Amino acid sequence: MIVYADNAATTAMSPAAKKAMIDCMEMTYGNPSSLHTIGQQAAEALADARRTVAQCIGCDESEVYFTSGGSEADNQAIVSAAMLGARKGKKHIISTKFEHHAVLHTLEKLKKQGFEIELLDVYSDGIVVPEDLDKAIRDDTALVTVMYANNEIGTIQPIDEIAAICKKHGVIFHTDAVQAAGHLHIDVKEQGIDMMSIAAHKFHGPKGVGALYARRGIFLSNIIEGGAQEKGKRAGTENLPAIVSMATALKEACDNIDKNSEKLTALRDKLIAGILTVPHSILNGDAVKRLPGNVNVCFEGIEGESLLLMLDMNGIEASSGSACTSGSLDPSHVLLAIGRPHEVAHGSLRLSLCEYNTEEEVDYIISKIPGIVQYLRNMSPVWDELEKGERNHVI
Ligand SMILES: *Cc1c(COP(=O)(O)O)cnc(C)c1O
Repeated sequence: MIVYADNAATTAMSPAAKKAMIDCMEMTYGNPSSLHTIGQQAAEALADARRTVAQCIGCDESEVYFTSGGSEADNQAIVSAAMLGARKGKKHIISTKFEHHAVLHTLEKLKKQGFEIELLDVYSDGIVVPEDLDKAIRDDTALVTVMYANNEIGTIQPIDEIAAICKKHGVIFHTDAVQAAGHLHIDVKEQGIDMMSIAAHKFHGPKGVGALYARRGIFLSNIIEGGAQEKGKRAGTENLPAIVSMATALKEACDNIDKNSEKLTALRDKLIAGILTVPHSILNGDAVKRLPGNVNVCFEGIEGESLLLMLDMNGIEASSGSACTSGSLDPSHVLLAIGRPHEVAHGSLRLSLCEYNTEEEVDYIISKIPGIVQYLRNMSPVWDELEKGERNHVI
C-alpha cells in the first residue's frame, strides 16, 4: 500500500485541474497580450480565471495578481509594504516566529536594509495572541504579516481579530494563506485582509503558480520588470494553462470545503488518537484550531529522519515538518517556537491528509507507527539513557 500523507508539501492535481490545463494548452495557446482572435481568446480565459479566483476569496477581480506561487506572492507583498513604509519613515515590521521561510527570509533581507523586524511569540498551542500584536504596533509600523494557518503544525490563527487590530491602527495587514486557501472559508473583504498569498499546488492545482490579492489602493512594487502584464506589477507572459488550472482547482476546493473538512477532521482525529497511544509522544499545536488534514507529533528518543525513511519503506509518504527544512540538521523553527526542546523537536512527524485519503489508509498508518517507533527506540542511545533513568523524560 502507498499512502501519500504529505499534502502540506504539495498535493496531487485534481482530474478537473489537469483537464483544464490540457484543454488550455491545446485550445487557448495564444498570448493574452496579442490583439488577434487567438490572443483575445487567451485574454478572455485569463480574465475568467481571475474572476473565479476573486469570487473564491471574496474580492474584486482587479485585486488579483497572478504570481509563480506562494513564495513570490509573499515576497511581493512584504517588499511592497516595506518600500511604501520606508517612504513614510516607517521601518518597523511585525510578524511571528513560525512563519514560512518565504516570509522569514524576506524579513531577514529587509532587516539588513535597515528595517526593524519584530517576531511575535506563538506559545505552546501554536497560536498568536492578538493582544500581543495590539501592544507591539507602533506609529512607525509599516506592515503586519501573520500566516493564516501554519504549514507544519496546522494551527489556524485569529485572522479576523488580527485584521481588526491592524485596521484600528491603520497598519497594512498581509497574510500568507497558502495552507488555508481552498481548505478554510476565506472572505478577504469581510475579514479585513489587505494582502493575501495563495499557491495552487496546495489545493490540487499545478505547481509554480499562485496569486497575490492586494486590496485596491494598496501600493505594489514589482519584483519582475518587463512588459505590462498584471497591470505592470508582474511582467512576463502569463502562465495561462497553470492559471486556468489553478482557478479550476480553487473553485472545486472552495465548493467542497465543508464536505472535505468534515471527512478530514474525522480522519485526522482518528489518526491523532491512534498515534498518541505510543508512549512518550505528543501532539504539536492546538488539537481543535488546526487544519482539518494536519497531524504533527513528536516522539521522544528518535530522529524524525530515520522515522521518515522507515515509513517510506512501508509505503507511507510523510514529512518531519516542512519540506523546505529537510536536508538541514536544525530542528524545525516552528517546533522550537512553540517551546519544544531541541531533542524533542528532532523526533517530529507531520502527516498531512487530503480528501483523497481513505480510512483504510489511516488505519494502515496507525497499524505501522507504534512498531516502527519501538524499533528505532531500541537502537537509540538517547532512548537507552531514558530507559535507564540516566536522562529524564520531557514528554
Ligand atoms: C508551500 C508554502 C509556501 C510556498 O509556496 P510555493 O508555491 O511553494 O512558493 C509559502 N507559505 C506557506 C505557508 C506554504 O505552505
